[in-house]
Amino acid sequence: MLIVQKYGGTSVGDLERIRNVANRVAKTAKEGNDIVVVVSAMSGETNKLLGYAEYLSDHPKREEVDMLLSSGERVTAALLSIALNEMGLAAESMSGRRAGIVTDKVHTKARIEHIDPTPMQRAITEGKIVVVAGFQGVNEQGRVTTLGRGGSDLSAVAVAGALEADLCEIYTDVDGIYTTDPRIEPKARKLEKISYDEMLELASLGAKVLQNRSVELAKKLNVNLVTRSSFSDAEGTLITKEENIMEQPLVSGIALDKNQARVSMRGVADRPGIASDMFNRLAENNVNIDMIIQTVGHDGATNLGFTVPKTELGDAKTVVEGFISDKEVDEAEYDENICKVSIVGVGMKSHTGVAAKAFATMAQENINIMMISTSEIKVSMVIDEKYAELAVRALHNAYELDK
Ligand code: ASP
Ligand code: MG
Repeated sequence: MLIVQKYGGTSVGDLERIRNVANRVAKTAKEGNDIVVVVSAMSGETNKLLGYAEYLSDHPKREEVDMLLSSGERVTAALLSIALNEMGLAAESMSGRRAGIVTDKVHTKARIEHIDPTPMQRAITEGKIVVVAGFQGVNEQGRVTTLGRGGSDLSAVAVAGALEADLCEIYTDVDGIYTTDPRIEPKARKLEKISYDEMLELASLGAKVLQNRSVELAKKLNVNLVTRSSFSDAEGTLITKEENIMEQPLVSGIALDKNQARVSMRGVADRPGIASDMFNRLAENNVNIDMIIQTVGHDGATNLGFTVPKTELGDAKTVVEGFISDKEVDEAEYDENICKVSIVGVGMKSHTGVAAKAFATMAQENINIMMISTSEIKVSMVIDEKYAELAVRALHNAYELDK
């Protein structure tokens, strides 16, 4: 098999840990696999370098920031290669440039445009373990670029795609994706497999493990992703195509988002174009809308509600108050003490009664549901924040996710 292994900052946090990673790589190689390793900078290193630049200037040139930050990953790549050589293994470290990673020209937030895998393939054919510096590439002008914070996951997925690797393993200090946050529900279970779409919907559960951008790229390039811990031998969670999952559970996980706030308006003018005007104005002010509800009120006016990230409530309020002064809206209420609980599972596509069970569970716990939204594989409910944990545990139990 050809396996891409990516090790994050904590996994390569000091020299002993780098040696530990080398042992793990060596073990995978001895099992007869070809390996490409993608590494992050040692933990804290990127922040330290950024601090140096900011000490010298309030506005360091982004080109120079990229030159500076990309060095962190190169240090780790070289050190890991040295450790592997010391174990008698042939290894070669590569910068993003040497690995053929070409990006657009947006410094500090570049997107990978294409990868020429020839140098990596040649080294693999020569029997070498390739160690790639993550988080970086080179643009058409030949200048070093970086992919945005946390970007070495993207490097790994893109490299796995370009090499058509059998597996892309992302090593962190967490051993996989759980049915819900184990700090809320200790009976949460580690998932063996989950589809790309479920993972994207469960973003809040995977947030510390995987960037959403990486999951989207893995889906696009059809890369089998595994998240697992570099500190244990426990099997991780495979994130893959829906077709690769034989037994699809009805519900795979429960996500909780405490970062939402709610706006509810009464007496919204009932005229064509009002929603368009309002949501355009919100978009112009960079307010990200999540759920939207509109209901018929009386006297020809409607009621309209939506949720936004808590940090954007102030901006949303400014927009809404504008509509109130223009007499297009009678009054509005703003509520920060809410949360969004979601149940996610591809099995919902082919089964009925999944949403009904969620509502019944809330009723049993006497929790009022303020808003509901559904997609093909998700049911989300907005409830009072003080019931957040209770709701998650009740739903986890109702769908028997501990079994
Ligand atoms: N070292 C970079 C960062 O800290 C990239 C990464 O770790 O993925 O953001
Ligand atoms: Mg990371």
